[in-house]
Amino acid sequence: MRLAPLPHEFEQAAPVLRRLSEAGYQAYFVGGAVRDALLHDHIHDVDIATSAYPAEVKALFHRTVDTGIQHGTVTVLTENGQYEVTTFRTESTYQDYRRPDHVTFVRSLREDLQRRDFTVNALAMDHTGQITDLFDGLGDLQRHVLRAVGQPEERFHEDALRMMRAVRFQSQLSFTIDPATETAIAHHHDLLKKIAVERINMEFVKMLAARDRASGLATFIATRLNEACPGLAGTADQLRTMLSDVPMPLTASASVWLRLAAALQLDQAAVGPFMRAWKTTNEERRQVKGLLPTLQKVAAGTADAWDLYNAGPDFLTVLLPVAQQLGIASAPWQARYAALPVHTVGELAVHGGTVMARFPQLQGPHIGAVLQAALRAVVAGRVANTEPALLEYMAELPEIKDGQH
Ligand code: ATP
Ligand code: MG
Repeated sequence: MRLAPLPHEFEQAAPVLRRLSEAGYQAYFVGGAVRDALLHDHIHDVDIATSAYPAEVKALFHRTVDTGIQHGTVTVLTENGQYEVTTFRTESTYQDYRRPDHVTFVRSLREDLQRRDFTVNALAMDHTGQITDLFDGLGDLQRHVLRAVGQPEERFHEDALRMMRAVRFQSQLSFTIDPATETAIAHHHDLLKKIAVERINMEFVKMLAARDRASGLATFIATRLNEACPGLAGTADQLRTMLSDVPMPLTASASVWLRLAAALQLDQAAVGPFMRAWKTTNEERRQVKGLLPTLQKVAAGTADAWDLYNAGPDFLTVLLPVAQQLGIASAPWQARYAALPVHTVGELAVHGGTVMARFPQLQGPHIGAVLQAALRAVVAGRVANTEPALLEYMAELPEIKDGQH
């Protein structure tokens, strides 16, 4: 089969393939880009596989970067863009059910495609759009099925992360998982414990951020992969509550963690250790800790202007998508956020300097307290955000009024 016309992203990269084949090497587009092009999905990075060894690739191009030379990956920089060019390889002697301890460069495309995880990810395409399909990946693409290349039991035993990749792709592509492949996941779910949490995290977040998260999540629960993940043992019932969420993609990873924390009914104290066990970033933890109580109030309809102000821009970008996912209309909340009289303390019409000049008797620590009281009053709409109104309001605060006697 031949993909014609070649999508723009591949046309741009085709000179790299031609250069390699003119020099006598084989070169193909491989991986996700080929799959997504055939599905007419958005194409991310165009990856290239070649029979040329890394040193041979480097000799053919003016500008290259040693991206992962020990794995055979050289990045080639061209006028049209940069492309990862990886030497055909096999991965041998898997120990500990994770990453191969070494890779062997080979000259055969077949061997390279054989090491790949799923048939739909094991397609190769040359610069004319001609597809090489050794494992009926095209049939599986048409049937919308994820099927392990070769013996699924063996493949998950080699690299347990592939089980997470299966449920991640299931959500992202809205595919089903071939029964033998799913059975092998259920059988080997416990091997996931051998995998570095950071790598599980990446697949897990991609799964839950995808529009059709319910399909991958259902398999994640059914195969008991959750039992091998930090903080998720024995949580099948709580996780199942997410299956009825409104299907929509999430763009912020913090939204994923916020939704999950809500499903698990974690409180502010418990969410930190949970996310730490997942090796999330400090920023993700800060966002989720701050937003969790606000999400509960939004769900209950009791969040006030001060809650919205304190959530800041995360209210729109992180919290509201989760609320929407829970079936809460976001437009009224968006309007309420936009209507806040100020969104930062810097927008307050009075600053520390003005307060000190107007109330010279005021002690240092009280200046902050007076400003904070004014900020709250402005956010709540109790005082206009103008200098005269604020100074008049401040004059009545105990810090100032009592200090005058
Ligand atoms: P995405 O659109 O998310 O980038 P992708 O299919 O390109 O999807 P990558 O993680 O970028 O996924 O990997 C590129 C290719 O490398 C895959 O399509 C697959 O052929 C192969 N691959 C990646 N990880 C594994 C793995 N753990 N085991 C076997 N093959 C893998
Ligand atoms: Mg990719």
